[in-house]
Amino acid sequence: MGTGFGGLNAARALRGGPVQVVLVDRNNYHLFQPLLYQVATAGLEPEEIARPARAILRRQKNFDFRMVAVTRVDLAAKRLETSDGPIAYDYLVLAYGGETNFFGLESMRIHGLGLKDVPDAIAIRNRVLRCFEQAMLEPDPEKRRALLTFIVVGGGPTGVEMAGALSELIRLVLVKDYPRLNIKDVRILLLEATDKLLATMPERLREAAGKTLWRKYVEVRFGATVADYDGKQIRLKSGEVIPAQTVIWAAGVRATSLSTALGLQPGRQGRIPVEPTLQVPGHPEVFIIGDAAYREQDGAPLPMVAPVAIQMGKSAARNIVRLVRGEPLEPFRYRDQGTLATIGRNAAVADVFGIQASGFLAWVMWLGIHIIQLIGFRNKIFVLINWAWDYFFYERAARLITRD
Ligand SMILES: Cc1cc2nc3c(=O)[nH]c(=O)nc-3n(C[C@H](O)[C@H](O)[C@H](O)COP(=O)(O)OP(=O)(O)OC[C@H]3O[C@@H](n4cnc5c(N)ncnc54)[C@H](O)[C@@H]3O)c2cc1C
Repeated sequence: MGTGFGGLNAARALRGGPVQVVLVDRNNYHLFQPLLYQVATAGLEPEEIARPARAILRRQKNFDFRMVAVTRVDLAAKRLETSDGPIAYDYLVLAYGGETNFFGLESMRIHGLGLKDVPDAIAIRNRVLRCFEQAMLEPDPEKRRALLTFIVVGGGPTGVEMAGALSELIRLVLVKDYPRLNIKDVRILLLEATDKLLATMPERLREAAGKTLWRKYVEVRFGATVADYDGKQIRLKSGEVIPAQTVIWAAGVRATSLSTALGLQPGRQGRIPVEPTLQVPGHPEVFIIGDAAYREQDGAPLPMVAPVAIQMGKSAARNIVRLVRGEPLEPFRYRDQGTLATIGRNAAVADVFGIQASGFLAWVMWLGIHIIQLIGFRNKIFVLINWAWDYFFYERAARLITRD
């Protein structure tokens, strides 16, 4: 279940296996979430980073797809309850992924903007562009400044990439569209509750990321914990109040609420603890993988990132084939390939394959790795063309305000 990185790779790895694969998802597409922030900042169209599951797996003979929302898993009856009736299974791989974690901050859930799926990205793009249109019509300078203040919460890779891309959209492109607006009225703030950006990266690269953001006029605030947001102003725990019409919440992810509907005890971030073989304790026919699964390795929880989901998907598929054949199962071991984050044009930090780099070299590595990982030749070509166009002409093609 799930056409994300985990589910898709599990389905693919079962190609030619002694099983019939039924992939179910509430969406008909696989989404490359690492580039979602580029849709949110008008750099790419959603179709360029997503591809229909049926198209990806159309040549796989033992494959079928059902577009349904799973509402419950009846582990005892070996049945998925879905929006379109039950689906029985012999073996089940649950890869339902994560959702934005607002850490119980209800006001942020209502007024803030998360970034997890295509509609979220479009909502951010619409909001940012609409704020510029409204600012053009706003005679009151204070209200205009609030319209042009953009706050990103969370200094992890998503927050850093989002803040960097937002700054470039505004300072390289929108300045040309709105020549009568004073660029000094624009503020982009990146709020981080701890004292670090990109916490899992080496110190040298963390510092490089911070410096690059400053150069792009992003105000980075450490120790800035959000207390409340009413849609007009954000209040920090320190008592500081910042008027802002746009707050993008990139501070956390947790497993989707389906975790609670399983009747199993969720662990940290709502993830379900699994056996070393990725099976659910007491249900050897059920595997949980990716963001939905909780597993520790070398004393630390595995991160909620695409390579973990991909490797788990392949491992779960191999174990299902072993189960069918009556062979012993293999325990899962994650091979960490490192972390990358881009902060816009010519700027990225990379700690991958034992290489630590920042600046242009890291940016080229980031471009190459993302193009290779994107699914579909057409998507690779279109994204490459878009990036080249934006690079040489300082443009962002997808600057449409659509209906939310
Ligand atoms: C904005 C953003 C940027 C990221 N950047 C990076 C990055 O740069 N590098 C990196 O490694 N990782 C990144 N990640 C994390 C990475 O995308 C996830 O770790 C990965 O997608 C997890 O894979 P998954 O298969 O577990 O879940 P997902 O890829 O989230 O897939 C879950 C699937 O399950 C489906 N689903 C969920 N609930 C239901 C239901 N009830 N019924 C039917 N279908 C359902 C969803 O529609 C979805 O298709 C990013 C995540 C986000 C949100």
